[in-house]
Amino acid sequence: MASETEEKLDIKSLTLPELTEVLTGMGEKAFRAKQLYQWMHEKLATGYEEMTNLPASLRETLKERFWYASLDIVQVQESKIDGTRKYLFALRDGNVVESVWMQYKHGNSVCISSQVGCRMGCRFCASTLDGLERNLTPSEMLEQIYAITRHTGQRVSNVVVMGTGEPLDNYDNLLQFLHLLTDENGLNISQRNVTVSTCGLVPQMKRLAKEKLQITLALSLHASNDEKRKALMPIANRYTIRELMETCEEYFQATGRRITFEYSLVGGVNDTDEDAAELSKLAAPLCCHVNLIPVNPIKERDFVSSEAKRVLAFKNKLERNKINVTIRREMGRDIDGACGQLRRKHIEAKREAGMEED
Ligand code: SAH
Repeated sequence: MASETEEKLDIKSLTLPELTEVLTGMGEKAFRAKQLYQWMHEKLATGYEEMTNLPASLRETLKERFWYASLDIVQVQESKIDGTRKYLFALRDGNVVESVWMQYKHGNSVCISSQVGCRMGCRFCASTLDGLERNLTPSEMLEQIYAITRHTGQRVSNVVVMGTGEPLDNYDNLLQFLHLLTDENGLNISQRNVTVSTCGLVPQMKRLAKEKLQITLALSLHASNDEKRKALMPIANRYTIRELMETCEEYFQATGRRITFEYSLVGGVNDTDEDAAELSKLAAPLCCHVNLIPVNPIKERDFVSSEAKRVLAFKNKLERNKINVTIRREMGRDIDGACGQLRRKHIEAKREAGMEED
């Protein structure tokens, strides 16, 4: 089945000009491409059979020639506290990914995965424990949002690429996804309402700056000096904080967009007053915003979250240094919260049940 997927063109990952080229190449009129595109990306059709204004013969041909990406819902967990929902989706090859739907006053937000697994190895993160399985296609990233929109019946206004995976390690697919997501002929989500979070791949951040998108770039910093960052994130062995800060400045100069620094507070590791002072020095010269996240402990590691008192003290210290700072509001505390935990639980349960093929 996987090889079939590879052979067939992934129709939902094509931009409108690309789709037009493919369809006119098949002898179809250009307006058919627009109709098809709207069915896929605006009306969020689940298959060709819904596309009633396309001739039956064309629908048949499309079905034979192309792969129509869709996701099956394996599980939905809903928070009793705030209505946050966690979705576990099955991909065509049997892999699973998770996405989160959150309701805010300003609209609904979806957090999507960009890869199956991850190869970045951050010490506190559940998504990376088994390494990288594969990249997600643009269509599989989109479909997480489309499937949730269909399931909730509500429009999504914000998208954050902060689920499993390192989006900039899947650069080309990410870029194509961003173009499709923000296309006026599709869901037409404003670029300003899209955030991409990276552990700090410097060359790709520089490349992204040149695309001049209006998205928000979030950098997972998590430490204010290289030594501490290396203990938490293997990627810190490749790029220094100094290089990262220079790249953030470059990004801001090119796009005019304020950078977000993500800083997960790990009890006794990166949450002291000295850490806050050092972080202030890094953040002060940049147009940035610091988002503090009390670390969500995972059972495979012994990191603990900073105490609430400490989190507040850390925030106050940054504020006194005139740094723009927020503490991330915890959503869905009563459902498997941390990145990758629902997916892991599912895989482990399958393993225990002896259902794994290998
Ligand atoms: N790979 C990207 C995006 C995915 S992770 C990145 O590194 O930014 C999204 C955010 O959640 C990152 O800031 C990541 O460091 C953080 N994160 C991962 N596991 C966490 C945990 N257990 N507790 C708190 N934050 C975590």
